[in-house]
Amino acid sequence: MILTTFCSKCLQPITNKDRNIINLIQREYTKDDVPWYIGYSGGKDSSAVLTLVFNALVEIKKHHKPVEIIYCDTGVEIPTISKYVKSTLESLKLESTSFNLPFKVTIAKPKLDDRYFVKVIGRGYPPPTNIFRWCTDRLRINPVKSIIDNNAYSIVLLGVRLGESKERDKTIKKHNTDSKYYLNQGTSTKTKIFSPIIDYTVNDVWATLKFNALPYSIDHSTIGQLYKDAGSECPVYRETKGTPCGKGRFGCWTCTVVRQDKSVRSMIEHGYDELKPLFEFRNWLSIFRDQADFRCKVRRNGASGLGPITLVGRKMILQRLLETEIKSDLRLIEKEEILRIKELWQVDEDNSGYREK
Ligand code: SF4
Repeated sequence: MILTTFCSKCLQPITNKDRNIINLIQREYTKDDVPWYIGYSGGKDSSAVLTLVFNALVEIKKHHKPVEIIYCDTGVEIPTISKYVKSTLESLKLESTSFNLPFKVTIAKPKLDDRYFVKVIGRGYPPPTNIFRWCTDRLRINPVKSIIDNNAYSIVLLGVRLGESKERDKTIKKHNTDSKYYLNQGTSTKTKIFSPIIDYTVNDVWATLKFNALPYSIDHSTIGQLYKDAGSECPVYRETKGTPCGKGRFGCWTCTVVRQDKSVRSMIEHGYDELKPLFEFRNWLSIFRDQADFRCKVRRNGASGLGPITLVGRKMILQRLLETEIKSDLRLIEKEEILRIKELWQVDEDNSGYREK
């Protein structure tokens, strides 16, 4: 690797590749007033983007527009990861202020009725599968989208990279624009995706995290450790339609889209004992989902076939979840979610059209 330049603020070496991309980010940032958002998950790719933008803005004197960093807290993030991300964001806020940078940090959350446990325990949705994956939009995409869509136009910076898989490359190509760094956002003409690291290899990404001292809040060794312990990352914004997020990734600890949760299992093997009860709950839930005895024989639309989880089944899940909280000593469901769940049970109990058989 050739290191030729130095960061003007911290006097650390910067790779040639990063130098070119930092220049590109500076040009793109200064050219117009379109608001910028960074979709941040705490994973290596979004951390690399944040690192490059931070270093680009440190060198610019006038910051004419804010850059909003958005992290989506689904409520079922792996607690260890979510704790790391939130503390990183807290220190980033301070660091941004100390460098006079225009960063704003926002933690997005799904609407109460869209939260995982409100859907499963309150409404009786079966925990998601590959065929019925109701979760990604509700838990991850919509909360971020609702913030970004408040603008007439916006640019979302994501850590999308070519070469991750053939399938991913194909979808990226489908969303191509005139510039290789920009992708179209589905059918939306209001939002463009800007991925400064589109050409980066995994090694380039790690080099970015390692060789840029700024921001101090992003600690490459902690991220490296989490990767060793868990897996890869989950999308924070719909960069390409249908991108799955449950495959051995930094995702929801309840994820039943994958056959086995390799991330959490690997973390337990690396000593995160508090996750053991969560892992057991998730495994129990994925079996429970398919037990016909706890599923209504009629769907909510009246058609026959496996319908929602029965009220008895939903109460069993809540009971088991509360036991899991005690065993792990972790807060896994919020009070307002429990209240909403109980309201939804009442709605079904009072509804003469609701049938379990
Ligand atoms: S991690 Fe799994 S449960 Fe969570 S949004 Fe992604 S696919 Fe759904």
